[in-house]
Amino acid sequence: MAWHLTIDREACSGHGLCYGEAPDVIDSDDQGDPVILEDPVPEGELEAAQRAVQMCPEQALTLSED
Ligand code: SF4
Repeated sequence: MAWHLTIDREACSGHGLCYGEAPDVIDSDDQGDPVILEDPVPEGELEAAQRAVQMCPEQALTLSED
């Protein structure tokens, strides 16, 4: 089982709360848009990834398991 973080680019407004919350999993590119650094999400970063999902005001982040 692995956890994957995905970004809905249409929904994302790029205000960066997510990469402040989970900087080891999400970074920003030159335009300030979020970039997933770790896929699958390492177990030790799952809580941070969940917090990022919860705090995204646009609900643009999804954490899913396969
Ligand atoms: S918090 Fe949500 S809307 Fe803001 S940059 Fe991250 S994914 Fe995009």
